[in-house]
Amino acid sequence: MRIGAHVDPADPLAEAAARGADVVQFFLTDPQAWADPQPRADADALRAADVEIFIHAPYRINVATLNNRIRIPSRKLLLSHARAAADLGAKGLIVHGGHVDKGNDVATGFENWKKTFEYAAKEGGFPLPVLVENTAGGDNACARRFDALARLWDVIGEYGAGFCLDTCHAFAGGEELLGIVDRVKAITGRIDLVHANDSRDPFDSGRDRHDNLGQGTIDPDLIVAVIQAAGAPAVVETPGGADGQGADIALIRKGLTA
Ligand SMILES: [Zn+2]
Repeated sequence: MRIGAHVDPADPLAEAAARGADVVQFFLTDPQAWADPQPRADADALRAADVEIFIHAPYRINVATLNNRIRIPSRKLLLSHARAAADLGAKGLIVHGGHVDKGNDVATGFENWKKTFEYAAKEGGFPLPVLVENTAGGDNACARRFDALARLWDVIGEYGAGFCLDTCHAFAGGEELLGIVDRVKAITGRIDLVHANDSRDPFDSGRDRHDNLGQGTIDPDLIVAVIQAAGAPAVVETPGGADGQGADIALIRKGLTA
């Protein structure tokens, strides 16, 4: 199993080496910006690297919302990041499941997801797997609780959507980690990537604050068990830079071989 970390985008391969990571995830732009990715000087090196690459889409993207001024640019931005990610040889582009605003019907959010894949198909299709990630908070989220996830997959599954399971988001979002891989796979049929994060907040708190493994409210053995059961690469999105993340990676590797 490949284990790695979410790292600073300036020099991802150096960051991978500093952590002993064999997979890295990073942003192609400021995650809070509406910006198309720019060509990277290290593109050839990234394509040739033994390290597997995943790209995280900007946080601003919300393809589910009924707000045109967010939904339409979100679709376009998702596609431009997908193209840039594929050009770097990335294995997948992670995007949050999104939500509709208070008072809106989440069913429209699922329909908007479908329209996102239809839009991409019309433009030639996503050139790499788009991995929808479960989120921690909100009552109108498309991928927080798994009853919603099942309704989402009813409409996007046929487009080849992939899934990224975040352990912090699941726990804080109110989904038990015990047996979670089977419950996810019953819905999506696949887990492409695990975000292996501890949570600073309690079960079902709806809060999204990651912590280093063993430092938060989740039993680290459960996180390791999720990775083991998923059989997918795992990335820590935890604090502490190379030291903190390196320790998390070591803990996971030790757990997987125990
Ligand atoms: Zn995550």
